[in-house]
Amino acid sequence: MALIVQKYGGTSVGSVDRIKNVAAKVKKARAQGHDVIVVVSAMSGETNRLIELAKAINERPDPRELDVLVSTGEQVTIALLCMALLNEGLPAQSYTGAQVHILTDSAFTKARIMDIDGQRIRASLKEGKVVVVAGFQGVDSDGNITTLGRGGSDTTAVALAAALKADECQIYTDVDGVYTTDPRVVPEARRLKTITFEEMLEMASLGSKVLQIRSVEFAGKYNVPLRVLSSFEEGEGTLITFEDNQMEQVQISGIAFNRDEAKLTILGVPDQPGVAARILGAVGQANIEVDMIIQNVGRDNTTDFTFTVHRNDYSKALEILKATAEQLNAREVSGDNKIVKISLVGVGMRSHAGVAGTMFKALADEGINIRMISTSEIKISVVVDEKYLELGVRALHSAFNLAQE
Ligand code: ADP
Ligand code: ASP
Ligand code: MG
Repeated sequence: MALIVQKYGGTSVGSVDRIKNVAAKVKKARAQGHDVIVVVSAMSGETNRLIELAKAINERPDPRELDVLVSTGEQVTIALLCMALLNEGLPAQSYTGAQVHILTDSAFTKARIMDIDGQRIRASLKEGKVVVVAGFQGVDSDGNITTLGRGGSDTTAVALAAALKADECQIYTDVDGVYTTDPRVVPEARRLKTITFEEMLEMASLGSKVLQIRSVEFAGKYNVPLRVLSSFEEGEGTLITFEDNQMEQVQISGIAFNRDEAKLTILGVPDQPGVAARILGAVGQANIEVDMIIQNVGRDNTTDFTFTVHRNDYSKALEILKATAEQLNAREVSGDNKIVKISLVGVGMRSHAGVAGTMFKALADEGINIRMISTSEIKISVVVDEKYLELGVRALHSAFNLAQE
């Protein structure tokens, strides 16, 4: 007998019939003798709908109240799923995040889990019940409702699996595993049987939204066996593994992309110590995260800086940069919020030269201009114009033969 945490995403609980389908899947796991904790998302579209309501009142809603609002989506699904489980003759009990003490910090809309008290869950399991927990939500030390950021139910599931030392954490979604790239963009994309934590972490942080990045961090840190599976088809899905040096490593495991990018440039700033700190410090102080940064070779004692930020932060960053430009007597400020980032990810990249060359040539052959490049041990990212996203990802998928095993 094992303890299994199963998480079902929005599409998987998107209608009453689908909730009944989840109940049947849980029943199957119980029939195999397993203890089951189920984490559910809100019904598909519900979180977006709630955010829209808030924005209809205020473009920047109060974060505490926004969390009170959006956390209701998951409260609906835990109750409905428990009703469906009871219909199947399975004893079940629902819990909100606060009821099982998913303690977080107070960073509303992007809170981090600090601690989970597993007592109540253990007691319910002991009584033979299926425990159904609302994903995405927690409570801070003052009793305020918090949420964990978009896709946060993944993290709830992994955190519960870690806290209760579950044998496996299964993420059920609308694809049957982790693919070489988003199958919605490249239909030939191939399901990976395994992917390492390191690679999954890069994929998630570079834009693959199949798993929330924090859930992967958590699973790696606490050694949680993590698997991505389909709610609608049988199959073994994709297992996230620790690196296995025995295995022959492929160069590239996958391609991630991020549409939410914007870039800003400041031209003709003095080429002297402290200038980068001034420019990026001002942006950082406004709580805007900077991703890629490029400084050009200086000429005539001046230089240029380009950096990227999340598209939501674009107008604010531009405003700040214009103010800095005035103080520094810079020549010009420009920006572009119609750019995207495409990244190749693979632990095998470490030991293979020539990956960058193949990547750049494949993009050039399609007439795609590369605007920025950044590399690390196991990834290469390029920034290109938004209109080239699909074309670029498809060209790279075929240049690296990712459809073939
Ligand atoms: P859920 O609602 O179940 O949490 P998500 O929409 O958050 O589901 O995540 C699943 C989606 O992630 C898929 O429908 C797919 O379009 C997208 N996706 C992006 N990159 C990948 C990838 N490399 N492999 C599989 N799915 C991916
Ligand atoms: N319902 C939340 C969202 O849409 C959390 C989740 O589904 O993981 O982001
Ligand atoms: Mg998700």
